[in-house]
Amino acid sequence: MKNLLGLTIEELKAFAVEIGEKPFRGKQLFVWINRGVTDFDEMTDLPKLLREVLKSTAYVGDTTILNVQEDRKDGTRKFLFNLGGVFGAGAGIGKSASTSNEAVESVFMKYKYGNSLCVSSQIGCKMNCAFCASALGGFVRDLTAGEMLSQVYAAEKYTGEPINHIVVMGMGEPFDNYDNVAKFLRILHDPSGKNMSYRNMTVSTSGIIPGIRKFAEDFPQVNLAISLHNLTDEGRSRIMPVNKKYPLAELLQAAHEYTEKTSRRITFEYTLIHGENDSESDLQRMKKKLGGMLCHVNLIPLNKVEETGFTGSDRRHAERFAAELERAGISATVRRELGSEIDGACGQLRLRNR
Ligand code: SAH
Repeated sequence: MKNLLGLTIEELKAFAVEIGEKPFRGKQLFVWINRGVTDFDEMTDLPKLLREVLKSTAYVGDTTILNVQEDRKDGTRKFLFNLGGVFGAGAGIGKSASTSNEAVESVFMKYKYGNSLCVSSQIGCKMNCAFCASALGGFVRDLTAGEMLSQVYAAEKYTGEPINHIVVMGMGEPFDNYDNVAKFLRILHDPSGKNMSYRNMTVSTSGIIPGIRKFAEDFPQVNLAISLHNLTDEGRSRIMPVNKKYPLAELLQAAHEYTEKTSRRITFEYTLIHGENDSESDLQRMKKKLGGMLCHVNLIPLNKVEETGFTGSDRRHAERFAAELERAGISATVRRELGSEIDGACGQLRLRNR
């Protein structure tokens, strides 16, 4: 049985030919699949006989929802999806929890400008940032493009609302799974599918430099965010082991090249950790090193993850940081805290239900 979710139009055309059909059937399949349809019988412009053939040779990968937590204040919903691959069953709550080590989380958020889904790109993470919960359970595996799409389509089906923005900021390091993430973005963008504008997509990296360079070539219109969290090598390496391989000066150089090549503003994420990276000298270094760059600084007061022992700076302190950066001509905001009631906030995505 072949999983058709996560295939491009070209791949679906080739599949159609393989089963003795005309290529245009592949395009029809693409349209249905990327409307979130998983049942071949709902694909009404396909001949009945073809639908029978499809049922015996293929399926549209689907995810089941193991759990949903809702923050009633702001409408944020955190999903725990099982990616065990139940075919054609449709998204429903509580089906088959047997493969919960194949579970990932996604967070649905409502903004003034539309609905956004924070998508996971891996099960677990290899980066081991000291303050983040995603690596606590270790690394399990990369997600396929289809598994990233299924998070979007299942969240749409459940909420009944369209998702018009995605941020690849859930569990995992997207540039450690570059090809699958790239395919996911291309399929979302395809005009015959969801037709999501590249400008409505954001990918966040912990700072994998070859990934940043390739991304500037491949996706100059997709927003890029880089997690900085400290502007000294010593301090950054202490909380982000990736800095040992890709040190700060080279990372900032890659960021420069990115903005030059794409003319796009880069977002630097800076999680404020009390007593770790939120001092006056941290602020002065930020001003010095980021001044003059085409960038925006997103300050995130750390969300507490019990096991890490770190606590966040308070919001007033974060706001002062933002104001000081602004005064120095660096655009900065303190991120709105969504889903704080449900551990749906940054760095808290992990499998509590296991
Ligand atoms: N691996 C990617 C994307 C996932 S994390 C990356 O590192 O960019 C998304 C953002 O949340 C990153 O900036 C990450 O550093 C931040 N983050 C992780 N744990 C956090 C926590 N406990 N509180 C606040 N932000 C956190």
